Amino acid sequence: MERILIIEGNKTLAKLIAKKITSELHFDVDVAYSASEAKLFLHKYKYFIILSDFNLSDSPDGEIIDYLIEKKNHVIVLSANIDRACRERMLKKQIIDYVNKIGVDDINYIVNVLQRLHKNKEHKILVVDDSMVFRKQVQGMLENLFFEVLSVAHGEEALAILKTHPEISLVLTDYTMPVMDGLELTREIRKIYNKNDLCIIALSSNTEEQEIALFLKYGANDYITKPFSKEGFSCRINNAIEALENIYIITNHANRDFLTGLYNRRYFFKTVESYFSNAILNNISFAIAIINIDNFKEINNKYGHEIGDKVIVVLSEILRSNIDKSDILARFEGEEFGLLVKDISEQNTMNIIERLRSTVQDYTLLTEDGQKIRFTISIGVSLTHEDKLEDEINATDLLLYNAKQNGKNQIVSN
Ligand code: GH3
Ligand code: MG
Repeated sequence: MERILIIEGNKTLAKLIAKKITSELHFDVDVAYSASEAKLFLHKYKYFIILSDFNLSDSPDGEIIDYLIEKKNHVIVLSANIDRACRERMLKKQIIDYVNKIGVDDINYIVNVLQRLHKNKEHKILVVDDSMVFRKQVQGMLENLFFEVLSVAHGEEALAILKTHPEISLVLTDYTMPVMDGLELTREIRKIYNKNDLCIIALSSNTEEQEIALFLKYGANDYITKPFSKEGFSCRINNAIEALENIYIITNHANRDFLTGLYNRRYFFKTVESYFSNAILNNISFAIAIINIDNFKEINNKYGHEIGDKVIVVLSEILRSNIDKSDILARFEGEEFGLLVKDISEQNTMNIIERLRSTVQDYTLLTEDGQKIRFTISIGVSLTHEDKLEDEINATDLLLYNAKQNGKNQIVSN
C-alpha cells in the first residue's frame, strides 16, 4: 500500500486531511507536526508523496521543502499563503504542486491529485523533441508526476517506439524536428491510432493560430505553446490522461459482460466479423466454438441462482485461462459462450477444446457452506467454414445441439 506523509503544524487540519485520505484512497498516512518529527518518519519509511506546509515552527521559511526535495521526495506544498511571489518561488522548485489549505474544496483537490498521481503510474508517455535539454526537462516534469517516460529525437524514431510499445498512452511532440516533424508524425500516428486510444499533444514555440489549428485538424488532442508554466502543463497532461481513461471505461462497459468481465455477444460479432472474412480469403485455419453448460437449470434449481452465477464465473475463468490471449472469448447469454480460436491447425484446436471439456469435468466448485458442485459442458466446433459469419454461427449451434442430443459432456465438430 502507498504511504503518505503529512507535515503540518496545525494539528486539527493535519488530522482532517489524513482522515480524508485514508477514507477515500486507502493509503497509509503518517502525520508530523514539525520538521524534526518529519525527519524521524523519513528515516523509517519511503513515501509515495509528502504533503508539507512550508511554514513550520522549526522551518519558518520553507527549509523543510528544500530538505525533502534534496532527499528526492515527491512533494506537494501546502500553504495558507496565496501571495503571488511566494507561489512563484515555490513553483520554481522541483515540487509536484502548490495547494492552498483553506477550505473543504482544497482538501478534496488534494485527494483528487493524489488519486490522479497514483493512476499516472499505469501510463507511459513518449516525448518527441530534437533538443536533448528540453527532452530531459519535460521528462523530469513528467516523471515527477509519476508517469513512465520514453523519449526520442524525431518522428521516425517515435513511430518505431510506438510499434514496440503499443501501450503508450500519450505522445508529446515538438513541431520542428529533423527527419520527420511533429505534424507529419501526428498524421502517421492517426493512421494507426484514433484519439480514443492514444492522445497526442503538440508542444511548440510556434504561436501562429493557423499552425495550431493545423495540428488540431490532423488529430492532435491539444497544443501547448512554449514557454509554458509547470502548473498549466501538469493540468493539461493530467486532463488528457483522465479523458483517455474515461473513454476506456465507457467503451469497455459497452463491450463487456458485467458478470464475467468477458466480451459480450455484440463485441464478439463485431470483432470476429473482420477476422472471419480475412481468414477465409487468405486460407488461414481457425475455429469457432459454442460452449454451453449442461443441465444448468438443475444447478439453479438445486443450489439457487447465486450459485448458478458462480458456476458461470468459474467456467469463464477456466475458459479464459486455457486459451491464447489473442483468441476471442465472449459470453453470448446465460450459460452460453462463444470462442474464436485463431491461426491454428485442426488437431491443435481439438486438443484445446478437449482440454476445456476435461478441465471443467474434473473441476469441483466448493461453496461457502461446504457443498461440492460438479458440472460439465457441451461444445460445438466449426472447423470447416461457411461464407458468412452468421451462417457459421448457426452451423456451430447445430453441432452443439448434436452434442446435447448425443448425451452432453462432449464435443461435436464438422
Ligand atoms: P442443457 O443441458 O440442454 O443446456 O440444459 P440447461 O438446463 O443447461 O439449459 P436451459 O436452456 O434449459 O436453461 C438455462 C437456464 O439458465 C435457464 C435460465 O433461467 C438460466 N440462466 C440464464 N441466465 C442466467 C444467469 O445469468 N445466471 C443464472 N444463475 N442463471 C441463468
Ligand atoms: Mg445449458
